[in-house]
Amino acid sequence: MSSEKANSPMRIEFAPAAPIPDYLTGEIQSKLAYVDERILRAQVSADRITLEVLAWDEGRAPAELEEKVQRVVLSMAKGAFKPKVQVLEDYIDRPVSYRQDPMAELLGRGEVSQEANGVYTLGPLLARLIDFFESQFIALAESFDAAPYRFPTLIPARYLERVNYVRGCPQSWTLASHLREDLDVIDEFSQHAVCDHQGLTTPPDSFASIQALLSPAVCYHLYFALADKPLPGGQLAATAVGNCFRYEAINLTSLDRMWNFTMREVIFVGPKDFVLENREIARQRMAKFFEQIEMAYRVESANDPFFIGEFRKQAAFQSAFQLKFEIRARLPFKDSTLAVGSYNYHQDFFGRSLNISLPDGSPAHTGCVAFGLERIAFAFLAQFGLDPAGWPAHVRERLP
Ligand code: AMP
Ligand code: ZN
Repeated sequence: MSSEKANSPMRIEFAPAAPIPDYLTGEIQSKLAYVDERILRAQVSADRITLEVLAWDEGRAPAELEEKVQRVVLSMAKGAFKPKVQVLEDYIDRPVSYRQDPMAELLGRGEVSQEANGVYTLGPLLARLIDFFESQFIALAESFDAAPYRFPTLIPARYLERVNYVRGCPQSWTLASHLREDLDVIDEFSQHAVCDHQGLTTPPDSFASIQALLSPAVCYHLYFALADKPLPGGQLAATAVGNCFRYEAINLTSLDRMWNFTMREVIFVGPKDFVLENREIARQRMAKFFEQIEMAYRVESANDPFFIGEFRKQAAFQSAFQLKFEIRARLPFKDSTLAVGSYNYHQDFFGRSLNISLPDGSPAHTGCVAFGLERIAFAFLAQFGLDPAGWPAHVRERLP
């Protein structure tokens, strides 16, 4: 068998081990990205799974691959029930002026350059547009007198373990390491390490054990800073922007899904009513903003992308208690929507796990409003095109 043959892609198709309800096809499809490194593309419908895989073993995909896919299907689809989607705002049919996928033109003009899968450099058009959105999010934060914070990009693994993140989303972690503090290892590395198409050719035992990750979100840092003490003043509004990292494997194909992206958050910590009322006020203020910028979008209940084993339980929990609402902007070019932000309420989960106490001794409640900066700019360009002359006046007049 030639290695060329072993590496050429092939298509395989089979029926799912359990029927897949419509509302789960997207969720299951995105999980297949993590099933096997040899899966290049996955397409999931109610009664068909189509995979493009790297062929091996005389051009046959082994049964073990199908078995892993079926494990995902069974664990997510069997006994699943349709979450009731609650729509809080619906402006999805607002007229927009553009229908193309902006990505090709952005790449063509050099406004976006791809450094790696999901890793992009943005040029002046996107940088200015993002600065405009940032100025509006900062104004939202100021309307709550939110205190500004700056958080690191690294986050200690032992912190995340305290809030059970290990079980929740391990598939999307980005682990940070460094060479061991050992002269021989460092000498060996500096003389012989090369980077081929698979990455650095370094023996795994050259790396120290992993103590840190690249942050998956912004607000965790605030909760860790407040851990194990009474909350000063009994309530807090805070804001920060930060680099976030979520490894989404073969789903990292465009600016709408990045490995390294930026998030602005406004964060509320305090009694339950304080958090819920402010989350609601933030939503109402943002609704005015979205009207001014003429964006087509919807706000609806949602759940986080938990790992397979946890998915059903956690999704049902989040949906039953209305813990997450997403701002989903319309992407006219693919007749779908993209989450550009979320309104989140964590109940007293972080307060309890991290021992953040209120003046009466009870655990603090937390919530956050989070915006994906690249995504909101991408969705805006998908609705209004790349020429600022054609943009809604509210945006055009405030561009930095
Ligand atoms: P979440 O904490 O999942 O609600 O994320 C908050 C926001 O961050 C989302 O609404 C998106 O706008 C953005 N975001 C999340 N994941 C990604 C990603 N992989 N690429 C780009 N933006 C993302
Ligand atoms: Zn948050």
